Amino acid sequence: MARFGQQVEKVVIVGGGTAGWMTASALAKLLRPAGVSITLVESEAIGTVGVGEATLPHLRFFNQRLGIDENEFITRTEATIKLGIEFCDWGRIGDRYIHPFGDYGRSIGGVGFHHHWLRAFGGPEAQRICDFSLPVVMAEEGRFSPPSDDPESLMSTFSYAYQMDAGLYARFLRSFAERHGVTRTEGRITGHRLDPETGFVTGLRLDGGREVGGDLFVDCSGFRGLLIEGALGAGYEDWSGVLPCDRAVAVPCESTEAPRPYTRATARPAGWHWRIPLQHRVGNGYVYCSDHLSDDEAASDILSGIEGAAIAEPRFLRFTTGRRRKQWSKNVVAVGLSAGFLEPLESTSIYLIQAAITQLVELFPSDGLREEDCAEFDRVLNLEYERVRDFLVLHYHATERDNTPFWNRMRTLSIPDSLAEKMALFRERGYVIQYKDGLFLEPSWLAVYLGQRVLPKAFDPRAVRTDGEKTKAALTGLATEIRSVVNTLPSHSAYLNQAARVA
Ligand code: FAD
Repeated sequence: MARFGQQVEKVVIVGGGTAGWMTASALAKLLRPAGVSITLVESEAIGTVGVGEATLPHLRFFNQRLGIDENEFITRTEATIKLGIEFCDWGRIGDRYIHPFGDYGRSIGGVGFHHHWLRAFGGPEAQRICDFSLPVVMAEEGRFSPPSDDPESLMSTFSYAYQMDAGLYARFLRSFAERHGVTRTEGRITGHRLDPETGFVTGLRLDGGREVGGDLFVDCSGFRGLLIEGALGAGYEDWSGVLPCDRAVAVPCESTEAPRPYTRATARPAGWHWRIPLQHRVGNGYVYCSDHLSDDEAASDILSGIEGAAIAEPRFLRFTTGRRRKQWSKNVVAVGLSAGFLEPLESTSIYLIQAAITQLVELFPSDGLREEDCAEFDRVLNLEYERVRDFLVLHYHATERDNTPFWNRMRTLSIPDSLAEKMALFRERGYVIQYKDGLFLEPSWLAVYLGQRVLPKAFDPRAVRTDGEKTKAALTGLATEIRSVVNTLPSHSAYLNQAARVA
């Protein structure tokens, strides 16, 4: 009988998009307990969601753990380097800032850098905090070299991610996973079998009358949630009250310039455009709210905003922001879009896939399925989703835009208590809550607060313990040093060419 306590001898992964092949690769390489087989079922006829190009630095560590060679990865996925995200027109039309993957300066006397910056300059009107961020200056200058391991070096103050072709990444991981023993089954899943007593899933029905049985199922079937929702009815927590964008239209275009090492998100009348430069093309799209914009209007807006010739017809996607109420239910674990979706404003979906895989590897039921593992998995993933949600809501809430019904709605929405508390602490004296776990750390929150005109009333009083004039001179010197270090680095394109030569 399929039930808690049961041994896991056969893992079945349902779906072969980014989530499916990342899960298959990680389980095969990192876990692969003796006697456990891994099968992945996917349908080429159904295909994948076909978007998901911008990533976060965590993907580098995922690849490293799998032993994937970076140069090979960059070459095989047409990847470029990503040092952050440029936000245009979010606070006010005409504003721009980069949310970098790295620090602003360094703390002085145990007090965070931004307090000293506030004391010295009073705010961004006098001196951008971005000038104290190596990755921002690298991004703006189009230069790149990997970070240094030497903690004393300025070159150790940043991280980086990739902009990649997600379809090529899934293909790359497919060959990796198959080499590590994963069996792929092609076919359309038409139904499932449940244990009549426990309600656990015991197998999949495929077209042509085939069946695939298993003990643990990882649902990577995309928005459909074939097992987590279709078989187990886990339920969905709808967050469109705070994040009402529910559609996207994607249009890739030809590159018209050397790829920039950053993604751009530009606020538009009913949502925002993404621009993601890869080696062989540029990914573009418009994430919008269907209450305020029709599909035709969205397509015409994005087509008029792209810089090169479109290389595919506009592709429309629909979604409901939120998360599955249970992400691990009985013997089904949801990973990827089947677990939930938050708009790609901060490129978090692939990160959330990785977070789920990390938990699954940690909690893998080698000694039998346990209810406690499901609960812990849900606890950690729920926190991850909520923290990402709050960070995304901040971008819409911290705006002064009032030029369209959409922006008026977003500016005046009531926000989650968790975000309201966080913002109140920052507004008082620049304090940023630090979580033990969770994705966005202090520099990320600072980037959005300061980039979108949320300024604290005061700085940390301990900042006055240092000599004000000397500190200001040191800060000015740091900005100059960052520029001179960046000027010595190779161009982003030169770095990519070098990766291709070495691969
Ligand atoms: P899918 O790609 O949909 O894969 C589902 C798999 O299940 C497919 O293999 C399919 O064939 C299979 N399947 C489904 N039903 C059946 C069936 N009946 N029988 C057999 N097989 C079946 N993420 C980022 O990190 N960065 C981004 O920049 C980003 N941009 C995005 C933009 C938009 C507009 C959207 C909608 C998403 C974006 N994402 C982004 C999210 C990202 O695309 C997904 O997280 C990622 O692709 C994982 O998708 P998936 O594997 O869960 O689902």
